[in-house]
Amino acid sequence: MPFNQSPPALTNQYSADRVLREYVQRALPPEMLRDIEPQLQEMGELAGGPLYGFQRADRVNEPVHTAWDPWGHRVDQIEVSPLWRAAEQLAARHGLIAIPYERKHAQWSRVHQFALVYLFTPSTDVYSCPLAMTDGAARTLSIAGNEALAQRALPHLIARDPRQFWTSGQWMTESTGGSDVGLSETTARQDERGNWRLYGRKWFTSAITSQMALTLARPQGNAGGGKGLALFYIETRDEHGNLNGIAVNRLKDKLGTRKVPTAELTLDGAIAVPVLGLSEGVKNISPMLNVTRTWNSVSAVSYMRRGIALARDYASKRIAFGAPLADKPLHLDTLAGMQAELEAAFNLTFCWWSCWAGVRRRPPPRKTPIYCVC
Ligand SMILES: Cc1cc2nc3c(=O)[nH]c(=O)nc-3n(C[C@H](O)[C@H](O)[C@H](O)COP(=O)(O)OP(=O)(O)OC[C@H]3O[C@@H](n4cnc5c(N)ncnc54)[C@H](O)[C@@H]3O)c2cc1C
Repeated sequence: MPFNQSPPALTNQYSADRVLREYVQRALPPEMLRDIEPQLQEMGELAGGPLYGFQRADRVNEPVHTAWDPWGHRVDQIEVSPLWRAAEQLAARHGLIAIPYERKHAQWSRVHQFALVYLFTPSTDVYSCPLAMTDGAARTLSIAGNEALAQRALPHLIARDPRQFWTSGQWMTESTGGSDVGLSETTARQDERGNWRLYGRKWFTSAITSQMALTLARPQGNAGGGKGLALFYIETRDEHGNLNGIAVNRLKDKLGTRKVPTAELTLDGAIAVPVLGLSEGVKNISPMLNVTRTWNSVSAVSYMRRGIALARDYASKRIAFGAPLADKPLHLDTLAGMQAELEAAFNLTFCWWSCWAGVRRRPPPRKTPIYCVC
């Protein structure tokens, strides 16, 4: 019988995470922690157990784009992987978007949300991407002052019922530029009924399965540059399921994030609604960018944590030269370096956005090796 190495394994990813547990103990009022800790435990158990198993089984699945049906109709159906479908249900049920808008725990609600996101993300293959944009859209619509749009979309974006839950896309990048988005070529024109319609090509639209998106377009006659763009709300399909003047040209064949259905789109008369005036679109979409950047930083740290959790477990199992790797000083030195980088990144990330969300910090206990830097 040849030797088979037992693989690295995960346990409850909340219980096993000293850094996260210390942070929530430090940042949250004790009665709130008592209230939310069972949910953190549950998410930690899922992330280290069934979801992690599902993720490994789902590894080779990728989104599939079907442009035409057998009878020649343009359908642009996108089938995402089974893990992604499950992740959407789980995210809605656990209120991953709802929590900061329900504000049950006032300004600490964001800590609750992002502690869950930190546990959820490494086991759900970048499903955090549509969630980040959904949170960004919810934030943008909740402060834009457009009551009609807020009433239409917000209840879906923050729904806990998966049947009601919508995700949102964020369609900015065009082939002229992602950074220099003021070069965008998409135009907006009013039709004879007064509806705004968008014409152009969006080059990088992640999570194209979303029910809505916030996007930028230049109303006819506006000046060039970022100021001449306006922020528009768009629903991707009508009540019959037909695409709203949108064609999915193809899914990106990307080097990474392959579970994410990122599309190139042609907008050919897509009906859209201005969110907030007919200019200053880049400024008006910036609340969405701030939220998605925050999700990105939390997600990045969560992946660092996952790598270390696996490496540490493996080091206790893999025998080389008569002893586990965990007993080898040089190997331990490598793991310790990774752990130090994780703790620095974790504290930088969580302290930074805690400040942004207005969370009052208590000073870290003396034994905590990494101090809040903000
Ligand atoms: C996986 C993935 C998913 C994405 N999903 C979306 C999405 O859902 N919606 C969306 O709108 N976009 C999306 N994007 C696009 C992404 O936001 C853009 O790629 C990004 O904005 C950069 O734009 P660009 O690719 O056109 O690069 P460019 O703007 O051409 O930049 C090229 C390089 O030049 C550097 N650079 C640019 N300007 C400056 C400057 N002034 N000074 C110094 N250096 C500079 C950049 O940092 C970069 O390294 C996605 C990208 C990826 C990889």
